[in-house]
Amino acid sequence: MVPTVVVVGGGYGGITVAKALDDVADVVLVEPRDTFVHTVAGLRAAVDPDWADRIFLPYDRLLTRGRVHRDRAVRVSATAVELGSGEVIGADYVVLATGVVYPYPARMDVEDSTSARSKLGATRDALHRARRVLLLGAGPVGLEFAGEIKSVWPGKTVTVVDPGTDLVSGRFPDEFRSILRTQLDQLGVEVLLGTSLRELPRSEPGRAATVTVTTGSGTEITADIWFPCYGVSTDTDYLDADLRAARRPDNLLVVTPELRLHGQDTVFAIGDVTAVPEMKMARAAQKHAEVVAANIRTLIGGGTDLTTYLPAADAIVLPLGPKGGVSYAPEVGVLGAGPTSDIKGDLFVDNYLELLGLTVTP
Ligand SMILES: Cc1cc2nc3c(=O)[nH]c(=O)nc-3n(C[C@H](O)[C@H](O)[C@H](O)COP(=O)(O)OP(=O)(O)OC[C@H]3O[C@@H](n4cnc5c(N)ncnc54)[C@H](O)[C@@H]3O)c2cc1C
Repeated sequence: MVPTVVVVGGGYGGITVAKALDDVADVVLVEPRDTFVHTVAGLRAAVDPDWADRIFLPYDRLLTRGRVHRDRAVRVSATAVELGSGEVIGADYVVLATGVVYPYPARMDVEDSTSARSKLGATRDALHRARRVLLLGAGPVGLEFAGEIKSVWPGKTVTVVDPGTDLVSGRFPDEFRSILRTQLDQLGVEVLLGTSLRELPRSEPGRAATVTVTTGSGTEITADIWFPCYGVSTDTDYLDADLRAARRPDNLLVVTPELRLHGQDTVFAIGDVTAVPEMKMARAAQKHAEVVAANIRTLIGGGTDLTTYLPAADAIVLPLGPKGGVSYAPEVGVLGAGPTSDIKGDLFVDNYLELLGLTVTP
């Protein structure tokens, strides 16, 4: 009997583990979206129509033996995954890979790629018409978005507001933030730190509407469009009572060093949804996926010697438009605009085309 592995969530971690187990198990990848969404390029897709076509990548060639089932998991136990349709899929192994949710446009908030493309088009039109853009949050998302907007429309006023006292949380050397500040200055991005808005703009985020807001320190900002670039939420309400024992108050999932869900032998969790103490990154999700694929393969073969995962040190590649940005990793130190653009100029899309089997001629 070939065991069934149900992977819940077809993002970076989910597609990696599903593909890695396709030859030893009946893999069912459960995902409500009709395509993989290359989130890493989502902010560029909000300013550049070519990219809006490139971030939605079909799942059809990911698996040879297994299948991708378009639905949402509504109840997950150690042995079964119930879908929104009411169908129940029996599972010998379950991998939870449901990620976290950021506000649009960092994360597409519609599941159908046609609607998501039109939404990106509407955002681009609204941005095109706006003279002044307000972004709330000076983390990687807010700054990357500021860089993308300025690289397409250098004449627009872009203001970033954040209550934190410095740019981008994370354990990075001072040089990283100093290069970032210099590049933001050169782009003409106005950054207001250590303050927040007295109240949020009354207009809907991402919609063209002129609003005036006041910061806690009394500065008035008038903007023609605004976007929230902060706040992450996690939905793990699909867990049954038994699996919920591994859930923290912030809804993230506690895992063992083998990336098993705490207290479980055949349920694993990977990627952003885990409470692994490291930055939430696609590359980490994929490393988790490799460890879990190796462990499920071992268990299927009757082995007991499992691989463990070591949390990664803080590292980041933060583009400011296609030609700018700054990066840091302990192995290489701080890298400026040129190397950052070399590393992430194409936003890693080729890696995912390959993983999804889309570079092979039919
Ligand atoms: C703007 C931006 C830029 C980024 N740049 C980088 C970068 O350069 N490098 C990097 O390493 N990381 C980057 N990241 C972080 C990266 O996107 C995340 O760490 C990564 O998406 C995590 O992968 P994941 O597989 O855990 O979750 P996700 O990729 O979020 O996938 C989760 C999937 O689960 C699905 N799902 C949710 N609930 C259910 C359910 N109940 N049933 C079934 N399916 C469900 C969702 O639809 C989604 O497709 C960036 C993030 C953003 C927002």
